[in-house]
Amino acid sequence: MGLVEIRERLAKAEAAAGRPAGSVRLIAVSKVQPLERVEAVLEQGHRLFGENYVQEAAAKWPAFRARFPGTEVHMIGPLQSNKAKQAVELFEAIHTVDRPSLAKKLANLAQARGVSPELFVQINTGEEPQKAGVLPADADAFIADCRAKELPVVGLMCIPPEGEDSRPHFAALAEMAERNGLTGLSMGMSADFEAAVAAGATHVRVGSAIFGARDYGSKG
Ligand SMILES: *Cc1c(COP(=O)(O)O)cnc(C)c1O
Repeated sequence: MGLVEIRERLAKAEAAAGRPAGSVRLIAVSKVQPLERVEAVLEQGHRLFGENYVQEAAAKWPAFRARFPGTEVHMIGPLQSNKAKQAVELFEAIHTVDRPSLAKKLANLAQARGVSPELFVQINTGEEPQKAGVLPADADAFIADCRAKELPVVGLMCIPPEGEDSRPHFAALAEMAERNGLTGLSMGMSADFEAAVAAGATHVRVGSAIFGARDYGSKG
């Protein structure tokens, strides 16, 4: 696969869903990928990336940003509160606001800095015990709490349970966003981004289908 093919498939999915071309933002998930692969995608003109780890992003992106103006990097992995300060300085958006203590921390940072990345609330649509995210039953109250803290929440994010049909999870997330007056929907990965576009995704997060398989082994 690769960037060109994924862009083509995304354009087809937009058209099939009757959505305007370019209405879905393609986040190229570059976590754990060798720098040469990331550089190749930057050279092809792509400027929107997703990272899961603050340390890795801090090591990788300042130099790429200097060379490739207009680059935007979104945090899509779980965020520890003690890394929140570094994260708000590194990322244009954080897709993983998932608990009151993190919301509070981000609100304090936003107040101190006078600016905040755009935020998505992560919803644990599958109610999986091991997975991050606000439970669906708590979502409305949590979103209201974020708004009361004047946090710039622009949408919702989910990672459906592995091996399950993603579509009911995408539909549930879309319904939850609509009910709360949120327009952003961060959903869909390599295996299911077309279904996510059909369900209204505004941001799809595609890693291995663009860059190739991740080699976690080389990280030690
Ligand atoms: C790694 C990751 C992705 C990309 O996964 P692929 O299957 O490689 O497309 C998307 N979203 C999140 C939250 C991830 O952690």
